[in-house]
Amino acid sequence: MCNTCDKMEDKDLCTQICAFFPPETRAPAAVSCSGYDLGTADTVATAAICGLTKEVTSKGAHLYLFNNGFQNFAEDLGFMVGKSNVAPMYNHQLIAVDTNCGDSEDLAKQQAGSLKQSGPSNACNKTDDAPVTLTFANGAKHTAKMAYLTPLPFDLPQISGFDAWEAELLKYTNPNTAVKVVLGWSDASQALPARTNLKPCVSEGSPCDRLILDGKLGDQLLRQVWLWDDKTIMVYLTAPADFPNEFPANLIAKKAWSEGMDKTVNAIVEQLRIGTGVADLAMPDYARFKHWTSGALLIDWKADSDVDGATISSRFSRPLGNAAPVYYGNSEMAANGSNHGWVEGALDMADSALESILPALGLHQEVHI
Ligand SMILES: Cc1cc2nc3c(=O)[nH]c(=O)nc-3n(C[C@H](O)[C@H](O)[C@H](O)COP(=O)(O)OP(=O)(O)OC[C@H]3O[C@@H](n4cnc5c(N)ncnc54)[C@H](O)[C@@H]3O)c2cc1C
Repeated sequence: MCNTCDKMEDKDLCTQICAFFPPETRAPAAVSCSGYDLGTADTVATAAICGLTKEVTSKGAHLYLFNNGFQNFAEDLGFMVGKSNVAPMYNHQLIAVDTNCGDSEDLAKQQAGSLKQSGPSNACNKTDDAPVTLTFANGAKHTAKMAYLTPLPFDLPQISGFDAWEAELLKYTNPNTAVKVVLGWSDASQALPARTNLKPCVSEGSPCDRLILDGKLGDQLLRQVWLWDDKTIMVYLTAPADFPNEFPANLIAKKAWSEGMDKTVNAIVEQLRIGTGVADLAMPDYARFKHWTSGALLIDWKADSDVDGATISSRFSRPLGNAAPVYYGNSEMAANGSNHGWVEGALDMADSALESILPALGLHQEVHI
């Protein structure tokens, strides 16, 4: 990054950061100062990389953990006078969305095609009440006054009618892969925070410590290690989609897939011991692994693109055009690229959508998240 500050969106910020790291101290594997590996691509704004770091470590940041998941959170919000207004249905795969506005494929084409136009598509055959029909893989059909869809951006074109968005996603987003491995010790005195004397986040509060490890690209499995609480750590790795093999995120995913969890955990602990100097660090008592395939995480918007992120976000948020009652929101499509990868982005899109949803439902009160 420091060799290409002139190509960065925030040249001054990049230069300021790099002044802390004179060239002779820069290690070849230190791809980003934040621990998020973004490759050599000069497509991501510095603010997005460093903004993430600030977001999660600053004193002012608020981190909300929902023990029961968003589904229960939404149900709680809708719970009024002893009745829940939200009826969750599990394990239903949505395969098509239709409205009275016309053929969904045509509508999506027109809205996707509007990205370079000054306004969105307002195409709709029937502009009065236009109910939405949701078709599920098991044959069930449900109708609703409107629909708010939340799949990851690249999952939307998998639903019939939304195909036109795939090419736009490929053009304007930065597909990344991500891996999280959570390791836990039942005895806090044996866990990494106590053994390194570093400050974990949940038990000690913000700001807290985390490790950014360097090593030989190709062998290095660990990069960004969060000290979650006094018994738990989380290895969080990202890698750009166009570097399929070398980054820690890719290596760890491959290892877990081809060699299994025992070998993966052994290798992680071995590299933790070397990286921290705690040569007798105890093996953890449990580990959980989650891999997001390429394209799940879309870090920031592409820099220097001919359409700005706010426009892409707002057009994508009405994927069948602004006259069809179909809404979309997800962290990875948030107008502010620094919110990609953070629940704040998903909430921000929901908040913006309420501006049209509330009047359409005949509700006029101010609701903001
Ligand atoms: C790799 C990655 C890491 C992240 N890390 C963090 C983090 O550390 N901190 C943070 O605050 N936020 C993080 N986020 C963002 C956070 O996960 C999201 O903002 C949050 O999950 C949004 O919740 P949601 O309910 O809107 O959507 P989701 O949790 O994405 O739920 C959407 C659901 O729709 C389902 N779905 C998709 N297609 C269909 C279909 N056709 N039919 C039926 N169901 C379908 C999916 O299976 C999924 O269960 C991360 C996101 C990613 C991608």
